[in-house]
Amino acid sequence: MHILIVEDDPQIAGNLYDFLETHGHQCDYVCTLAEALRRLQGDGFDAVVLDLGLPDGDGLALARRLRAGGQSLPILMLTARDTLEDKLAGFDAGADDYLVKPFALREVEVRLQALARRGTGRADAGVARCGPLEYDAAAQEARLAGQALRLPPKALKLLALLMQQPNRVFSRRELEISIWGHEQDSSDNLRSVLHTLRKALGDSPPVDIANVHGLGYKLVART
Ligand code: CA
Repeated sequence: MHILIVEDDPQIAGNLYDFLETHGHQCDYVCTLAEALRRLQGDGFDAVVLDLGLPDGDGLALARRLRAGGQSLPILMLTARDTLEDKLAGFDAGADDYLVKPFALREVEVRLQALARRGTGRADAGVARCGPLEYDAAAQEARLAGQALRLPPKALKLLALLMQQPNRVFSRRELEISIWGHEQDSSDNLRSVLHTLRKALGDSPPVDIANVHGLGYKLVART
């Protein structure tokens, strides 16, 4: 696996690097959020090992940004924090797994391999599903009960993000970044794209975009 280690503690980073390289992985190492973002612009990594406390910000911000940009590569978070709330915040930001320091190096590798296997499964299938709604990432096509949905590009981007994790609440900010690449001054812009998408889903849709007051929006299948 090609692994990006994002960790500002040189000893932990060094131990991870040596262990993973010794076990046949190719590693790159950065110690800031900014550098991590730069490295992740290009493809080629199979997983990220991400420290939460970094000199220029919080690892959670990086996880959120990757997910908002549609990147699905596995993220294993490393942190000294171990309260339930911190873990939930990590998963909410898009982390796939979580290890509390101090951890065994062998466990890092085992968890990364498990995440990579899951990730490969997702990539092979290539199609995300929520009830009768499908999103084919390769073809950039949405289908409802087998019928192609004609969506303008912004609505398609919105759907692509929501389909990554049905039932997960995405904040207005995450949705705006995925559509426009940055936050919008007015919430009307997002509302307009949501309206387009809801309209395309029909009058009494089997899949709807629920407004979670004060938090954001999520995709839900009606059963
Ligand atoms: Ca740190």
